[in-house]
Amino acid sequence: MIIVLKPNQKQEVIDQFVQKLTSRYDVKVNTWVGTQSTVLGLIGDTVSIDSEYIEAQDFVESVKRVQEPYKKANRKFHPEDTVITLPGGQRIGGGGLALIAGPCSVESEEQICFVAEKVKESGASFLRGGAFKPRTSPYSFQGMQGEGLRLLSEAKRRTGLPIVTEIMSIDHLPLFEDVDVVQVGARNMQNFELLKELGKIRKPILLKRGLANTIEELLMSAEYIMAGGNEQVILCERGIRTYETITRNTLDISAVPVLKRLTHLPVVVDPSHASGLNWLIEPLALAAAAVSADGLIIEVHNDPSHALCDGAQSITPAQFDVLAGKVRAVSSLVQTL
Ligand code: PEP
Ligand code: MN
Repeated sequence: MIIVLKPNQKQEVIDQFVQKLTSRYDVKVNTWVGTQSTVLGLIGDTVSIDSEYIEAQDFVESVKRVQEPYKKANRKFHPEDTVITLPGGQRIGGGGLALIAGPCSVESEEQICFVAEKVKESGASFLRGGAFKPRTSPYSFQGMQGEGLRLLSEAKRRTGLPIVTEIMSIDHLPLFEDVDVVQVGARNMQNFELLKELGKIRKPILLKRGLANTIEELLMSAEYIMAGGNEQVILCERGIRTYETITRNTLDISAVPVLKRLTHLPVVVDPSHASGLNWLIEPLALAAAAVSADGLIIEVHNDPSHALCDGAQSITPAQFDVLAGKVRAVSSLVQTL
């Protein structure tokens, strides 16, 4: 961290400040005294230093971080890829393309079990399905909630597919006992109290990027979970808000290689929420496979035109089957290059 002081500071002010920094934080401070300005270079563990606190000192001109503010998620301190392995052997990370598929929302036992069986036949290794749904309108279907989780368990019992489903409130955690991967939705990416609580559990967390959040903010949210002791975090690029209106969001495909450079955590792509359009799912999924995403999370519905949520972006099991074959081909090709 580089701190530039305002010109002509008294030596005792500088000394006191340096003393404060070295006693409070695990850092060494190098001081360069120019004809007017003094520059302090902080070396060591600067992650816990609040740059706003430094900026608030009236003798400080500017502050610049030279090191990323996240540590546990940082590839610099953990060069190997993190691989999430479930008790059933399903993996996300470290090569390969995991397929997570299922409806936006659980609607009935027949629906979730039928879709689970179909996507499994096509090679999905995880079942997605929302039981608690974050909807823009309070009058829209809010999900089957506890009953939805029970139906997901039934689909898991029949197919062996691990469950990926969204948590909206930590109060619901006791209901999530049979859930294998807990999803944090885009709208909750910066619900720090929720993230802290999820840091205490020992289940993988699928953390979706917020609608208008930067890559660094996504990594800081992952850091919250990891700092609590849960290092099993999967990141998800699901499109961000831009000025484009044809698609529901804009898939930030470059986020995949950028994230994989900055962090060791696995990165999956959600082309369904990124585009909002069923005919765009396949090309975006292929693009994700081409940039070596570790997985895809895709909305698949038995009858998209009657879906209670996100029908326009849902594909049928037959379309998923075709997509799965193509993305597997791209993924294996990319791995041989
Ligand atoms: C979902 O996966 O069903 C969902 C609501 O996604 P997001 O949080 O990315 O909008
Ligand atoms: Mn959805």
